[in-house]
Amino acid sequence: MEHAQTSRPPGPKEYKSDLKPIWCPGCGDFAVLNAVTKALAFLELPREDVALITGIGCSSRIAAYTSLYGFHGLHGRALALAAGLKAARKDLTVLVAGGDGDGLSIGGNHFIHACRRNMDLTYVMMDNEVYGMTKGQASPTTAADWSQSKLTPQGSRIRPLRPASLALTAGATFIARGFTGDPNGLAKILVEAIQHPGFAFVQALSPCPTFRPEQMEWKHQVRGFEQETSSDPMEAARRIRADDGMSTGIIYRSDYPAFQPGSGAGGDVAAGMAAIEGELRI
Ligand code: SF4
Repeated sequence: MEHAQTSRPPGPKEYKSDLKPIWCPGCGDFAVLNAVTKALAFLELPREDVALITGIGCSSRIAAYTSLYGFHGLHGRALALAAGLKAARKDLTVLVAGGDGDGLSIGGNHFIHACRRNMDLTYVMMDNEVYGMTKGQASPTTAADWSQSKLTPQGSRIRPLRPASLALTAGATFIARGFTGDPNGLAKILVEAIQHPGFAFVQALSPCPTFRPEQMEWKHQVRGFEQETSSDPMEAARRIRADDGMSTGIIYRSDYPAFQPGSGAGGDVAAGMAAIEGELRI
């Protein structure tokens, strides 16, 4: 891919490719694309210094809709690919994107270990509580009683995962939730996530109007967290557990040192351990 050299930083549109997204009208993933490109423009990151790695699913198509270097990888393996890229090219800003099914089902193992490994990656999970690309099956974040899928007409009867809670328990050092109905707010969160020197997890509530039309009501349910970002994992856990999953903002941030293979074992580990004294074991 060749990028024209310009004397000014690219604007948000220049981080987009010429491909027209084939997402359904109203899909929240459009807003994630806009938020990502706005965040990159705000940070004035040269396109050739950023890579976007994705898995499989509707949301994972996002890599093709940007003008960044990218890799549309295997189902659930985006984080493994991104970790390999970051290990080899620590100078790159590496973004990772995918859906709740990609990241928490077949990719669940990679998600847990990416959190605890704490490499300097930014992972955006577009969460619509459904497998959209394969026509609307229950995903790991689908409510147990959601019965609109033909495969689970009585609901899956399986409790959903809470992505933020899982990320916190597994060791992610930046955890946030945004909403595609507030793309500017999501872009601000992404700016902070990209600047965070460790594994940054951003859950983007991203409605699927095709298979979960009721999610269009999320705009009436989403609100900001009342409290500021916490650096105390126990406090962050309490906030996540007390919340209905509809509060947005940066939930948790810690300065535990990032891991970069080949450049020492993650910096000052002793200082990092002190910083997360009281780390969760739940
Ligand atoms: Fe978006 Fe749902 Fe359509 Fe997939 S099926 S593109 S998630 S609206």
